Amino acid sequence: MLKPPYDDTPDLRQAIIDACLEMNRRGINQGTSGNISARAGNRMVITPSGIPYDRLTPDMLASLPLDGDGPAEGPYPPSTEWQFHLALLKAKPEMHAVVHAHPVHCTALSINREEIPACHYMIALFGGNTVPLADYALFGSDRLAEAVVEVMTERSGCLMANHGAVVTGETLEKGLWRLEELEVLARAYILSRTIGTPHILSAGEIDEVLGAVANYGIKSA
Ligand code: 13P
Ligand code: ZN
Repeated sequence: MLKPPYDDTPDLRQAIIDACLEMNRRGINQGTSGNISARAGNRMVITPSGIPYDRLTPDMLASLPLDGDGPAEGPYPPSTEWQFHLALLKAKPEMHAVVHAHPVHCTALSINREEIPACHYMIALFGGNTVPLADYALFGSDRLAEAVVEVMTERSGCLMANHGAVVTGETLEKGLWRLEELEVLARAYILSRTIGTPHILSAGEIDEVLGAVANYGIKSA
């Protein structure tokens, strides 16, 4: 398993492709929806736009300077969402990956223009007592990048109105893990509403979880 800080190597590029294939295999994304990027030194490596993941080879990925000063390099145009990937990696130096997808339950809530409240303690994985909703804007637009970055200042995940979800990861693996946890959270929340009225945890209860979560899991993983 590659560990950050990452370099732009064929192994990193293959790890990005593997993460894309894995998110589709796990059923948290479909088709050519979604995109994944990783920080590699002072550049960002990102999936190309609109190419099925099972056709990708490492040389097909795109790379852009993190300061946004310079053109994309690669045989194909970068993902249309390169702007929010770049903005999130710039804003969050501790994060080395960004994973965007259209998971069905996250997307359903985003269509209803709802955020996810503190319906489960795992909400703390996203940095607070909600997973916020970014305002609607055209896919691939700079307005969408602004909307995503605005709600993710203190969060590592958000829903995107009438679109899907995005998370950041300390590693590629953690990005994928966080995205899957977000989809499980969305699914459990929707399910709980079909059988009754969800009980929402208080801000104090989530503060307590945030303290405990800091010590959760294997730190080097
Ligand atoms: P790309 O194929 O350009 O990455 O677009 C997929 C997507 O999810 C746009 O929001
Ligand atoms: Zn999308």
